[in-house]
Amino acid sequence: MWDVTDAELLAIVAEMTNAEKVDLLSGNGLWKSAPNYRLNVPEFVMTDGTYGVRYQSDLIDGVNDDRANLEQFLAVVNRRTEHTIEGDFSGTSPATCFPNGSSFACSWDVDLALQLGTALAAECQALGVNLLLGPGINIRRMPLGGRGYEYYSEDPVLTGDIAAAVILGLQGGGVGASLKHFACNNSEVQRTTMSSDVDERALREIYLAGFERAIRKSNPWTVMSSYNRLNGVQAAENRWLLTTVLRDEWQYDGVVVSDWHGIKDRAAAANAGNDLDMPASKSRKKQLLAAIGNGAVPLATIDQSCLRMLQLVRRVKAGERRGATCDLRDNHTLARQMAAESIVLLKNESRVLPLKMAAGRIAVIGDTAIDPIFQGWGCATTHPSIVDIPLEEIRAFAAPGVEIQHFPLSGEDRTKLADAAIAGAASAEVVLFFANTENGYDGEGSDRIHLGLADGQDALIARIAAANPRTIVIVASPDAVEMPWLAEVPSVLATFFAGQGMGHAVASILFGRTNPSGKLTVTFPMRLQDVPAYLHYPGENDRHAYSEGIYVGYRYYDRRELSPLFPFGYGLSFTEFCYSNLELDRVALKDGETLTVTFSVTNTGRMAGKEICQIYGRPMKTRLHRPVRELKGFTKVELNPGETKRVSIQIEARDLRYFDPELGQWLTDTGAYGIDVGASSRDIRLSTEVTCDTPQLAPRRLTLETQPFLLFETPGGREKLAAFFRDRLSLDDVGADRLVDYCSESFVGIHSTIEWFAGETIAASEVQAVIDDINEANGWTSTRHVA
Ligand code: BGC
Repeated sequence: MWDVTDAELLAIVAEMTNAEKVDLLSGNGLWKSAPNYRLNVPEFVMTDGTYGVRYQSDLIDGVNDDRANLEQFLAVVNRRTEHTIEGDFSGTSPATCFPNGSSFACSWDVDLALQLGTALAAECQALGVNLLLGPGINIRRMPLGGRGYEYYSEDPVLTGDIAAAVILGLQGGGVGASLKHFACNNSEVQRTTMSSDVDERALREIYLAGFERAIRKSNPWTVMSSYNRLNGVQAAENRWLLTTVLRDEWQYDGVVVSDWHGIKDRAAAANAGNDLDMPASKSRKKQLLAAIGNGAVPLATIDQSCLRMLQLVRRVKAGERRGATCDLRDNHTLARQMAAESIVLLKNESRVLPLKMAAGRIAVIGDTAIDPIFQGWGCATTHPSIVDIPLEEIRAFAAPGVEIQHFPLSGEDRTKLADAAIAGAASAEVVLFFANTENGYDGEGSDRIHLGLADGQDALIARIAAANPRTIVIVASPDAVEMPWLAEVPSVLATFFAGQGMGHAVASILFGRTNPSGKLTVTFPMRLQDVPAYLHYPGENDRHAYSEGIYVGYRYYDRRELSPLFPFGYGLSFTEFCYSNLELDRVALKDGETLTVTFSVTNTGRMAGKEICQIYGRPMKTRLHRPVRELKGFTKVELNPGETKRVSIQIEARDLRYFDPELGQWLTDTGAYGIDVGASSRDIRLSTEVTCDTPQLAPRRLTLETQPFLLFETPGGREKLAAFFRDRLSLDDVGADRLVDYCSESFVGIHSTIEWFAGETIAASEVQAVIDDINEANGWTSTRHVA
């Protein structure tokens, strides 16, 4: 506890020398904030990551040496160790490796996300960590993205809601969150220099929207700026991003911390609103001190950042529970439960699952059945406290009369091993094939290079399936994969990187102890070339054009009416659900109001299960182009066989808006708007409409080149032009009106049209004055609209 009032914090700032201020804003070593013993400001500890606590005691508690720090930091971030359970975790404390972001988001369960946050907080408290550097929520725009395994979804509503719950859990447990990476860190290719070039509408509606939603719902104590440049400007130095949007528009009052060594120009970062520079760097501290000295960074800006830092110190110290303990066994149970809720059943022909064998043989094929892949690599990698081994769990879940035989695929003679696996498959009742993506390309610092499986597994699955048609494929991958063999196998489970409890969760689903309930949070494309980001990925000459604009993920496939391999929101259960009786609590929706969507869901099958119900908004009469439908809300319902529940989901009117970059405003089109209730984005079960009752929109801003028809659609346009003709050309009302009518037919710009029909030279400035007058009367200043 650091018991200080606001006035005392201000007094501390006033007391500090410039050098002390620079210290405070520069951290201390890799993982600590800088204390100030003279003014009694305590330090705090921060560490990664997004799904587990990586406490590297040798670095956090060891000697603070710059060179060793950087070397060890790079060793972690760049490591590409074999995915062994043992890994190289020397010096890192064991902690629970929960399902990674791309896995646990498939639970679509905000209560579970809250529990995750609470559990992470408990582990942080036990290790003495005050600020956890997560969650990471960048939009998964391209499945090759190296950090996709940490991130939640291609959709900002799902992303924002899951993130908010994790943050609430974490901060409720007294540990600060760091919402990262702000913004558009969607690829690892040249990740500190590449500029993500994104149009304002896509930024607002897709890439920033998840951050805005999470911040509004959970107020994370810190936000981490990202490594990349955004529209040409380093994210940590981007004033529009960190101040105009984050602070002025969203009213964010926490600390902005840089990604590690993400700042290139310290003064520019301070001016942009990046408060804390991590980790400590002697040269950047020097730069900042000089910039304060020569006025390049105003003292008021520095004082403001210092105040925010001190408020953060107070927050984390108030939450600190010294001497707290944490039972990692309980958290292992939670990790298992989360994995079980998140694994997605993608295919289950002829109900091959769950396995109901009392006798016979199961061939378990693949190295990862005994050496599972359950997390990606990079700063988030967690030293797991325990690891459930799939093969052992399968043995434990199978009936006593069932023989389980394992076939590894790696060894000296891989051909021989593959042949043995095929032979074993042919004589087994059922085959469980443990598949995985290329190890070493599934983490921080490098993107994947293709969407296939590793080591010839794609071809092998087809051969195994030919030998045994009851082949079930269990895929561990950071993000979407292609499945050229899909038609050959009856069943597929996608685990993503499901954390240390994955083995237990998979076995529990295979044998029907758990009814799968995860659904995809991204679209699985048929092939890499179908991905909307494909054409300009990964960028060139340091620029990466996000040319698909707002059409990210399902928004693209839907608009183009393309069939993906599996759509967004898709996932099967061992039971079936029926949707009925859709009702809205109002017929018209005004700004500021909330719409309640209510419907019934019935479990019509024979097994208890959970269903993720999704609400999509379907813009009907649109001014700007819009996606066919967009996720607006969701919930997860648990139902016994035969049971029906009434489900209500609330949607705020603000969530139906779109951003018009020309008007610089969020808008809702007046009129009918579709509301769809779906089991996935491509499985809409119920539909209705609500009327958006919103104020009339501002007309478009006119220019000299605007086509005249727009002037006639603009309030006052026709009258003001007629008046101009009367005065300028000395016409009577009838003559002026006739001339106006002629003009209305033209397709060339307003000025050229007027000159042409008037038959004499009329200066552009004269016409501009008329246009200015019309624009002004409709609320336009020079380029922005003032509502
Ligand atoms: C990563 C961050 C992480 C930081 C500290 C960076 O390389 O991008 O996500 O929090 O390192 O480890």
